[in-house]
Amino acid sequence: MLKRIDLSRDYHKHKEEYMAAIEAVCEETAFSGGSFADKFDKEFAKYCGVKYATGVNNGTTALQAAMIALGVGPGDEVIVPANTYIATAWGVTHAGATPVFVDCTADTWEIDPSKIEEKITDKTKGIIGVHLYGQPFDFAGVKAIADKHGLFVVEDCAQAHGAEFEGKRVGGLGDIGCFSFYPGKNLYAFGEGGSCTSNNEEYIDTINVLKNQGCRVRYYHERIGYNMRLEGVQGAVLSVSLKYLDEWTERRRVIGKRYMAGITNDKFVLQAHPENTDPVFHLFEVQVPDPDDFLSYMARNDVECNRHYPVPCHLQKAYADLGYKEGDCPNAERLAAHCATLPLFPEMTDEEVEMVIDLCNKY
Ligand SMILES: *Cc1c(COP(=O)(O)O)cnc(C)c1O
Repeated sequence: MLKRIDLSRDYHKHKEEYMAAIEAVCEETAFSGGSFADKFDKEFAKYCGVKYATGVNNGTTALQAAMIALGVGPGDEVIVPANTYIATAWGVTHAGATPVFVDCTADTWEIDPSKIEEKITDKTKGIIGVHLYGQPFDFAGVKAIADKHGLFVVEDCAQAHGAEFEGKRVGGLGDIGCFSFYPGKNLYAFGEGGSCTSNNEEYIDTINVLKNQGCRVRYYHERIGYNMRLEGVQGAVLSVSLKYLDEWTERRRVIGKRYMAGITNDKFVLQAHPENTDPVFHLFEVQVPDPDDFLSYMARNDVECNRHYPVPCHLQKAYADLGYKEGDCPNAERLAAHCATLPLFPEMTDEEVEMVIDLCNKY
């Protein structure tokens, strides 16, 4: 069975290096925060082309911390795409504010800037754009609206480490970038991890205090804080993986482009990748008439596929009290009804890629 994603291949390939990194943390007992987490912050900031990065314990808390650092709280609204992983919206909700969902475009499947303005009220504080599936959203389009209305822009980069918009890496385009290192993301920890990136020293300073129980000096708590620190083991493992990220991204791009060129069956609708972006193919999504039928066809042929995401955020039960209904975000709803995810990870062999293409074309 070819898995949708198989992390064991990378683990076995670089096992000795990973284990040496973990051992070094143990020798120093630098388990929570500490030198290995700090070292990774510097390396990751450099990688993203931003001034600062600060590691946190996962991508969901990265979003929550970003919201709090930007002054979001009860009574505020933040615009979020309906087509994203739910954690984008949790970031807003966990800061005490309300997410306001906006549809994606019909072709890029990313947030539609032309649908943002109608959702802005006097409570709106900002916009979270998501570089979903590794495809940068239309940052220029979103930023123009944000500037016109005095709103912040946060980038949810959980699926897009190293992706570029107009030649610039994501994470430093908006006010704060939020990353996840959940296993299976393009850059991943051996457990949970995340990071906030920014060129704004004040935001990063606030997040440093927030993530560390609200203190700068131990046991002196200057504000309500959280325990959101990155673990030392994760920092050390991430420093190893970061060395391979460019190589992994290059391979993801080769596979993604091979799928785009190779899948010619007209049952499939593929995502559009605008010229001014360089995606990193975190997930290769296709729209098919009946995703469940497609998934079982692939499984019968020994290929595992899955779905991202079967229910759009605005129709999730958890947000029922916000009063959205079917038809509010038609493009996101069509995607949710028809999406399927093909296997894609850097260690896939050329034969496996060709097998997936062949099966798609015979479907
Ligand atoms: C994975 C993900 C998150 C959440 O990150 P965690 O580390 O799992 O908390 C947020 N947004 C998007 C788009 C994601 O894919």
